[in-house]
This record gives sequence, C-alpha cells and structure tokens, in this order.
Amino acid sequence: MADSKTSSPPSGAQTESAVRPDRYDPQAIEQKWAERWAQNPDLYGAEPSTTSRRKYYALEMLPYPSGALHMGHVRNYAIGDALARYMWMQGYNVLHPMGWDSFGLPAENAAIANRTPPREWTLRNIAAMKRQMKRLGFAYDWSKEVTTCLPEYYRWNQWFFLKFLERGLAYRKKSKVNWCPKCATVLANEQVLPSGCCWRHEDTLVEQRELEQWFLRTTDYADELLQGLDALPGWPEKVRTMQRNWIGRSEGTLVDFKLDGVAGPAGSAIPVFTTRVDTIFGATSIQLAPEHPLVTDLIANDPSLHAKVEDLMQEQVRAKEAGDIGAIEKHGVFTERYALNPFNGERVPIWVANYVLLDYGTGAIMSVPAHDERDYEFAKKYGLDIRVVILPRREGDALDGRPNEPVLPFVETNSLLINSGEWSGLPSEDAIEKMSKYAEEHSFGKATVTFRLKDWGISRQRYWGTPIPIIYCAACGIVPVPEKDLPVLLPEKVEITLAGGSPLGNVPEFVNVSCPKCGGPARRETDTMDTFVDSSWYFYRYTDPTLSDKPLDSDTVGYWFPIDQYIGGVEHAILHLIYSRFWTKVMRDMGLVRNSEPAARLFTQGMIIKGGAKMSKSLGNVVSPDDMVARYGADATRMYTLFGGPPDRDLDWQDDGVAGIGRFLSKVYRFVARNARPGDPAWNSSDGGQLSPAARKMQRVTHQTVKHISEDFAGRWHFNTSISFLMSLVNELYAYEDSLQRGENPHPSKIGLDGAPVPLWLLADVQRKLVLMLAPFAPYLAHELWEMMGETSDLLRAPWPQYDPELAKEEEVEIGIQVNGKIRSRIVVPADASDDQVRELALGDEKVKAAIAGKEIVKVLVVKGRLVNIAVK
Ligand SMILES: [Zn+2]
Ligand SMILES: [Zn+2]
Repeated sequence: MADSKTSSPPSGAQTESAVRPDRYDPQAIEQKWAERWAQNPDLYGAEPSTTSRRKYYALEMLPYPSGALHMGHVRNYAIGDALARYMWMQGYNVLHPMGWDSFGLPAENAAIANRTPPREWTLRNIAAMKRQMKRLGFAYDWSKEVTTCLPEYYRWNQWFFLKFLERGLAYRKKSKVNWCPKCATVLANEQVLPSGCCWRHEDTLVEQRELEQWFLRTTDYADELLQGLDALPGWPEKVRTMQRNWIGRSEGTLVDFKLDGVAGPAGSAIPVFTTRVDTIFGATSIQLAPEHPLVTDLIANDPSLHAKVEDLMQEQVRAKEAGDIGAIEKHGVFTERYALNPFNGERVPIWVANYVLLDYGTGAIMSVPAHDERDYEFAKKYGLDIRVVILPRREGDALDGRPNEPVLPFVETNSLLINSGEWSGLPSEDAIEKMSKYAEEHSFGKATVTFRLKDWGISRQRYWGTPIPIIYCAACGIVPVPEKDLPVLLPEKVEITLAGGSPLGNVPEFVNVSCPKCGGPARRETDTMDTFVDSSWYFYRYTDPTLSDKPLDSDTVGYWFPIDQYIGGVEHAILHLIYSRFWTKVMRDMGLVRNSEPAARLFTQGMIIKGGAKMSKSLGNVVSPDDMVARYGADATRMYTLFGGPPDRDLDWQDDGVAGIGRFLSKVYRFVARNARPGDPAWNSSDGGQLSPAARKMQRVTHQTVKHISEDFAGRWHFNTSISFLMSLVNELYAYEDSLQRGENPHPSKIGLDGAPVPLWLLADVQRKLVLMLAPFAPYLAHELWEMMGETSDLLRAPWPQYDPELAKEEEVEIGIQVNGKIRSRIVVPADASDDQVRELALGDEKVKAAIAGKEIVKVLVVKGRLVNIAVK
C-alpha cells in the first residue's frame, strides 16, 4: 500500500557491532531483530475467520499522518501492543491492525505552504510514521492496513452515503452552520469546543453561516445511542457520562405561542420547549435568542431596536469566547410585540435575551420568573411580572385560601397548581401530563422528548476529503451518482486556497458532468465529507481491506466483532466514539453487521505531559520518540511509557525515567548472559527434589511475579506495577548472585551460579518465565534472550507462564513484636501459623522476655501476618 520501503537503520544504530554477551546494546539487538521480523511479513497475521480458535480484536485508534509520531502515540500503541502480545501468548487468534486517518486539513495547509500536493505529502508522512512504528517493534498485521485517503477506501464512504440517502438518513438542508474562518470550512457541532472555538483552532471563535449542507440523521438513533450506553460496562464511566450529556435527552412539552398582530416571513408562531408546562400560567414573557429567525420580523419597523439586538448578539459572542456562556451578565430588549399564551389567551411580551442560545431547544423560552432561577433574576432586573402558580405540596394541604407562600424562585416538582384556570389544584406531575394532552388535542403543542444531539453536518468546503457523490441537474434536481460510477475520484491537480469556497469548484473537468438521469449538462457537488466519516467504520474494513466489490464481508466481521478492546484518547469521547456507534447501528439495520456496538471494551489512556504541561512546540517541551529510541532503544522507550504511571493517568515525562528502564533492561540482559546454560544437560532437566531456602525463595518470588502480572493484564492494566514486580524479581536474582560472590554459598564460583544451591533447572525455569513476562513490554530484548537460552520456538506465540498458587504462597513471614506499642523485636514465623502459635513464639523471644520481665501481661493482640502487641503493666 502506501509504503513499500523496508525500514532503514535508525540514526545512531551501531550497524557494525555484533550483539555482545557482556554488554546490553539495544541498538544492535533491535536492529538484528527488526531485520529478522521484516523478512516475515506474515509474522503478526491473523488466521482466517474460519478458524475454530478464539478470537481477540485488539485495536488502537488510527493516527492522522502528521509526519511524525509523538509520545502520546507511543504510549497508546505500547499499551495495545502489550495487550496484543499477551493475548497471542494466551493462545488467541489476534487481530492487531493499523491504518491512517489520512484525509483532512493539515495536508491542504502543507500544500499551500510547501506547494506539495496533499496526496504526496500524506503518503510520504505515512511512510515515515510506518518506519517509526516498525522501529518501535509494534506487532501490526500490515496486510490489513487501511489508508482512508485512497480510492480503495473512500469509494465505500461514497457507497455508504448513497445507502444512507436511500434510507432517508442523509438529507440536504439550508441552515445556520458553524464556520471556522481559519479552517475555511463548516464544522459539526461536535467539533465546536464548549468555549465556542474551533477544535483545531482553540483561539478561533466559530461563526454562524447560512449554507446548504448535507446532514446525516444521527438524531434518528438518539434514543438507542443513549440506551446502548447502559450495555457498555467495559467503557469508562466518564466517557459514558460525556455521551449521555451530549445526547442530552429531556422530556417535556412543545407549545406554540401565536404572535399577536402581523406575522412576517419567519412565521406566525413561536415554538417553545418546556419541561414544566404546569407553570405556563406563570409565563410573563417570551425570550428569544438574538439570532432567532423571528427577531428580524419583529423589529422590522423599529430601527432603534436593531442596534440593541446587535449588542446582545455581540455580548453572546464574547461570552462564548470567554468560555462561559453560563456566567453571562443577562441583558434583554423588549421587542414591543406580544405573543398569546395558548392556555389562557393572555398577551405575553416578547423579549430578545443574550443568554438564550439558538442551538439549544427551539431557541426560544417561556420565562416563568416565580419558578426558575434564571428567569427570576431576569424579571427582577427588568421589572417583569412575577406570578406564583405552584405551591409546595404537603400532607393535608387544602386550597382553602391559606396557601403556604413559597420562597421564590420556587422550583420543586412536588407541588400543586394555583392561579392556573381549570388545572388549579392538580399536582404538578398530573398537570404536566394533562396539559400536554390538552395542547395536542387543541393542536398547539404536544408532549415531546428533545435531544441536545443534532444531526451531523458532514459537508466540508475543503479539497482533501471524500467527494460527496451527488450531481445537481437543472431539470432533475438532486441526482445521486449511480453506484456503478463509484468512486467519484478526487482530482489530482487542484489549486488549493483557503478562500473562495470549495477548491473543487475551480476544477471544470470535475464539476461539469452529464446528468445520470436525463443526460443533460449538470454539476457535481464540490464539498467533501467530514473526515470523521472515514473513521466511523474503518475498523470494519481492517477485517478484509482488499475486498473490491463490497465494503466488508458480513461473516468475517461476524467473527471479529465486536472489537474486544479499543484503546485511544478521551478527546474522542463525543466525536469519533458517537459517530462510530451511530454508523454501526445503521450498518446493522442495513443487514451488514450483526453487532449493535463497535467495541465491547474501551480504554482511554492518559496524556503525556512534561514539566506539568502538555507537550507543545511553543513551550519547547516536546520529547521526540526518535531521540529516545536513538539514545535508549525502542524497548526502554515504550516500556517507560507503561512504567511512568498507571496508563489511564497522565504521565509527566522524565528522560531519567527512560534511562532507568534502560538500566533495568541491561541488568536483565547481563543476568541471562551470565546464567543461560542451554548446553548443560541440567538446564533442561526438570529435577524436583528438596530446594534450599534460597532456591525456594527464588521460586516463590517468580511464581508471585507471574501471578501479579497475569492479574494486572486481566484487571486494571496497571502495567507500572507489573514492571515493578519484574524489577523486584531481577533484584532477587542479583541479591542471590551477590550472596554467592560474598562466599555465602557452599560452592562459590567467580561468575555465574554453577554449583550454587539453586539448581540449574530452577534457574532455567526462572529465566524462561522472566523472559516470557518481559515479552509484551520489551519484545526486542525478550526475543534476544529467548534465543540466548537456546529456545527455538516463536516467542510471540509461546504460552504465557503459569503460576502454582502453592509455590507462590509465602512460607514464612517476619512480624514485629510491640510491648505497650513500642517495637521490641522481630521474629520469623510460618505464614500459616495460628494466632496461638504466634503468641507463644512472641512470648518466647529473648528480647521480649527481657522487656516484660517483672511485669504483668494484660493482653496479647495478634494481627495476622503483621505484628503482635503485648500490653503489660
Ligand atoms: Zn478551525
Ligand atoms: Zn437531469
């Protein structure tokens, strides 16, 4: 595909030096293995889906090919790679693919800056990043690679678009849309930050423009997207909460307030959504968002109001800019016009207010000051009527003219209606139901569920994206490109600028086309698709990216899906992770897939920061993976990203930390180099027999380490503690060697452990287990040591070591003995000793005897495995 070059040696690699037994040389070792692995392109290949083996789909989010990996990528992929390798060792058929989310704006900006065609720039970046990934030793099945900017892939985006259109899930509409002036394109709601700025340009405020756009009906699936979250216990709660809030379901009533007097082009009614229709008799004004389409009509005859409304609009813009629209100082302007409350015909003044947002609800609210905090504040400020229409509801309350005056604003739902015509006296819940029904019967409203989620606007006025397969014909209107004519190819030679609309509009060969229906002259759509379309379904394509007659094979997908573990950044919580869930549900309804959710489990890794701040060029605190690999090797670099903290937390990068991991790997290397004796017959014997206490300890620590790391993989992935356990095990091995050097061994040897009280078969077992456990974290070194130990099997698929709970059990524990709370001695007792035995041993200890001599024992407290406290007087 994109990259046909083999990986070249990294800078700093000592290509001439052979691997040496006494010195850990990561560059030499890693180069040797990288070359070997490169010779076997099927190394990480998954078996076909027809196999009877259990499958495991491990997936990291695919990167945008910016040209270089950053440390955040390395951490993301190191987590996924450790998991994939672990699952291979557990005997699973593992799918572990990688690809490129390769459409998007940076390629166009680069094209403008460097006069390089976006395609060339992108493919060059992909090749560079692929080399980095290979150098880092990530075990990807490159035969499954997906590159979204190539027609083999994006033709299926176009195919899906046509299918969505057939199903009524794609439509074109003129509407106010988010426009980033720096991107020079429209953005989806999900791409606008809470501050109102562009997700790519955190300092650039998004503007509103009126444009004809293509939308996908995500709202058709709003309920299911929300309910499906309950069935995803393997997703972080914070992501599920973010999605729930984004989807923002609320139950209420839609009520039309008719305009009193003449109506203009924007209509004669103001639809209002309220969750509290029971308080509608207390509505003393209607508040419109400054950009509400009716505003222009209402103030048409009063030029003095134009400037005031413009001010409100600017205030709202500035509040969004400042990032907190909720804290805006509330201002409003009376339009001098009225609407009619449909429940009682009352004339209600219409205002325009700076805190009402057009894209929230209907862009208009009924203001009930007595029963809403915000409305109360506003009414106080402008002297609007405040009318109490509900009262607190208490046992035995009767409407006998002695109401309990509530403190305003009173917002409880446990309340009774007053001053509300025929509904007075009803409890609020009943009133909401009955009044909603009444509104529906009288055709001015109905009970309704609204969602904050809006349809997904996918048109982008940019070049480097999937052309939308639509043709506009003067005679036939909107004509979809026939399926047989796909793909609509993106033309190569295009003048790219950030001005003047879609660059494709300047390519006559592209634009001018014959209408597929009538054959007459017609024009192609010149907008391209949002790149989040590409990433909404890419992981299905991985299962068979070479299919040329369909986007995916349902049976193959049926075998691999859902993704067992998806790993990526939390910044995608409401972008990619909502879009791809939506896409999956549509695909299911099309009969393409059987799963309703793309991923069973999701893991969001923490960020890598440095000096407490996010790495950025402007702060000059960027750490380059290439530098780290050149200095410490790939194993140390990737292992450090796992060791620096729990993977779900942020990691504050320390170069010293990588050096420390390098030293640890060197210790492992030197130990095995000294102690591997594959030629010795005793190395492969499995002679049990009585073990010395030192040997037994080594065996016990080894089994404990296997137990802990296996549990970490099965549980919370605290690989930092897994690696700590490996370090403890290695320290144990060194302590043992040291004890031999000091002559504490009956059969000392200068180097190595020959003749030591730890038999060679056990030393072999310990080293094998150590290397197997190292394999998911430091694959290069693990492979080198595996070979050094005379192993010929493929380490990638070697069985993960087992532990024996009996052998892992502590035999003896050291406990402290306190006398009146003060430590007086320590004793070693059998781990399974009873409290009575421990008590007896404690009281028999010479130091304890001395400390309590001549005193009366009041109480002896045994804290199992930890201490004994003797109280005396
Ligand atoms: Zn932007
Ligand atoms: Zn036509």
